[in-house]
Amino acid sequence: LRSAHFYPVMRLPPLPTLQDIIRMYKLSAAQKLSQNFILDMTLNHKIVKLAGRLQGCQVCEVGPGPGGITRAILEAGVEHLYVIEKDRRFFPGLKMLADATGCLTAHQGDILRFSMENLFPEDFVKQWEDSPPNIHIIGNLPFNVATPLIFKYMESICDRTDAWRYGRVPLTLTFQKEVAERMVANPNDEQRCRMSVDVQNQCEVTLKKVIPGRAFVPPPDVDVGLVHFVPRTAPLINLPYRLVTKVTRTVFHHRQKMIKNNLVKLFPSDQKELVDEMLKHADIDPERRPVTVKNMEFARLCHAYNSICTRLPYILQYDHRNNTSVRQYEAIRHLEKELCSQL
Ligand code: SAM
Repeated sequence: LRSAHFYPVMRLPPLPTLQDIIRMYKLSAAQKLSQNFILDMTLNHKIVKLAGRLQGCQVCEVGPGPGGITRAILEAGVEHLYVIEKDRRFFPGLKMLADATGCLTAHQGDILRFSMENLFPEDFVKQWEDSPPNIHIIGNLPFNVATPLIFKYMESICDRTDAWRYGRVPLTLTFQKEVAERMVANPNDEQRCRMSVDVQNQCEVTLKKVIPGRAFVPPPDVDVGLVHFVPRTAPLINLPYRLVTKVTRTVFHHRQKMIKNNLVKLFPSDQKELVDEMLKHADIDPERRPVTVKNMEFARLCHAYNSICTRLPYILQYDHRNNTSVRQYEAIRHLEKELCSQL
């Protein structure tokens, strides 16, 4: 079996610097891909260190670009590094690293469509309840990709698909600082929002470091937060992902409103009494503001909603934004009532 012992921290052979790579291959940052590079290798090593111990691990880096974080990951003594990059211009530089180390595979593609379901060797699979497998996902992605990506990954973590077929694979990713703060926000924090509950439900989340915008080339207008996620052995709210996110999205629809006024959107207009039933079942004061609600109170709200949906299955499909479906659900309910009266 593989052991970290066989993968000593690696010193890369002499290579052109990141600045040389950028000059040689004319890799000026493409604005449409929101490219902001980290060329300071001390910072790249710090980022990789904050991801945890990588010796002997299988690692996937998303968006390697000119390869600064990539070099630091390789120097950590990984067994193999896979990189997923959308922009073809970076491939000659990545090939140079692959040739120099023999343990780098570069895939061209969009990370939002890329599946890691079979990326790593089978003998790295661990039981979900075990400690995390020796697999890591690391990346400094553009902000407009990192946020949809983390929601996609939360769903995969919940379903134990994609990279999470291998067990509780940890992630270390960058986000706009404000988004990073939202993800770790506690009840009553100003930044507390739907994202805080959805992410904390599936993972232990830690804001590891704030990186000033000036550390990037070119510098973005905002600072950046490096966030570490470790999937929980069981989510705090053990219910289907879509049900939970429907409740959290509705509760936070208007952050300043009382919960009871947001929850009306979960039910058809002639069944608003279900709001009272849900809040009573969850033992939550209807006049509370969304930001005050703790994760375990969200669990009670979701279970209360789930028990209503078990009794009245059309409620789960109900979408207040879709008038056609309101009519459809009312027709279904009408039919159900007729059938009951005929029994
Ligand atoms: N990791 C490098 C660094 O820290 O210097 C580059 C960071 S730059 C913010 C983001 C990188 O992600 C770029 O190389 C960009 O081409 C790549 N990228 C952008 N969108 C992507 C996507 N959807 N899938 C994969 N890579 C993407």
